[in-house]
Amino acid sequence: MKRKEREDLMPGTELRIAMLSAHSCPVGKLGTRDTGGMSVYIRELACELGKLGHTVDIYTRVHDPEDRQIYELGPNARLIHLRAGEDEEIHKLAVYSHLPDFVDSLEAFRHESKLRYDLIFSHYWLSGLAGTSLQQSWHVPHITMFHTLGAVKNAVREETCAAHGEDEPALRIEAERDLVQSCHRIIASTDTGRQELVNYYAAAPEKISVVPCGVNLQQFRPLDKGQARHRLGLAPADGSGRNGDKIALFVGRMDPLKGIDKLISALPYLGDIEGLRLVVIGGDEHTGHELDDLRQLACDLKVKDSVDFLGLVKHEQLPHYYSAADVCVVPSYYESFGLVALEALACGTPVVATDVGNHRHVIRQGETGYVIADNHPRSVARGMALFLSQPDQGNGTAGTTRATVREFGWPYITEAISKECRQATTDYLRTCS
Ligand code: UDP
Repeated sequence: MKRKEREDLMPGTELRIAMLSAHSCPVGKLGTRDTGGMSVYIRELACELGKLGHTVDIYTRVHDPEDRQIYELGPNARLIHLRAGEDEEIHKLAVYSHLPDFVDSLEAFRHESKLRYDLIFSHYWLSGLAGTSLQQSWHVPHITMFHTLGAVKNAVREETCAAHGEDEPALRIEAERDLVQSCHRIIASTDTGRQELVNYYAAAPEKISVVPCGVNLQQFRPLDKGQARHRLGLAPADGSGRNGDKIALFVGRMDPLKGIDKLISALPYLGDIEGLRLVVIGGDEHTGHELDDLRQLACDLKVKDSVDFLGLVKHEQLPHYYSAADVCVVPSYYESFGLVALEALACGTPVVATDVGNHRHVIRQGETGYVIADNHPRSVARGMALFLSQPDQGNGTAGTTRATVREFGWPYITEAISKECRQATTDYLRTCS
């Protein structure tokens, strides 16, 4: 790197950041098999970094022939689709074999557009591999965020029950191990995530910074419960103006590690809660057999009339669902962070969740929700009953619940990430000089 370029990159200046999200499209449909919290995170973070004056280009694969090449996301933030393999949704493991094409397409686009970057910020191991390859020719620092870790997922599956989906391949775990060594900085979203990197991957603790995920507090805010139910067709048709049935909500990808089966199995324990309905959001026709299995489970347990499977719901629509619900339930075996809990709390809705991800740090026990020790249906039901058996309070406590998660607003989180980016750049330049 030339002296002039180095001077350009001193802290305090704005950075040109190449953000990599090879397998999951940040403007893709949320709640499908491979597109969830990470996509929300990348999109929001890029937009907020853009507002701070950094220039962010997110690179992802073309997932649909209809995809435009460039989407302007906001000031200084763009999403760029690159051709790598078929122009369609493919299993994330299949993306591995297209990574060289992804890197070549990115380089072709960059040369054509005469772009230079100061920093690579990769997400998930597949993009991490692409980042490592680009870093070697660009000579800039590489920050990575794993979001989930293969070895940890395998350990969770082994501990809980072998039936929870396919094992993560050795290829992924090896790649993650190499990446931990080769990247310049790692962002983990929880202290647990940081410890897992150390324990499972021998990561150097001083290389890892913990910065939680954020929530868009403008988008996720409490709405009037009665109006939200009315709008969604969830209000009683008797015109009484009551909020009516008790509503429990699940939002997420149809991944066996989400424990949705445990939530459905909790319903028979809640028989004394009159008119209880469970609204399940997430999953589409590409999800595979998971949705069918869950429907069958609801039939077998004779609770099928109490469960509404709504499929994918657009992120912008979710505040209505969170506000309409009496409780949001996150019964996962594993979360790297758990955005759904944060979104629900920002809408003023209590959350019952297992002790994974950042749940214990975002939920105030007995006040804004309940962190349960395990996702056994009885434990899930007990936690839910605490909020479902109370008389309806309308929006009574929504404001105080929301106030507890203000510190996770994106402007604060982005400041912290921006600092990490600047620091990584400074450290890198120091090692180069
Ligand atoms: N989501 C959505 N529509 C759906 C299902 C999920 O917008 O139909 C969003 C949800 O609001 C959240 C993200 O997908 O922002 C899921 O993130 P989380 O961290 O809870 O889980 P992950 O997908 O990372 O495992």
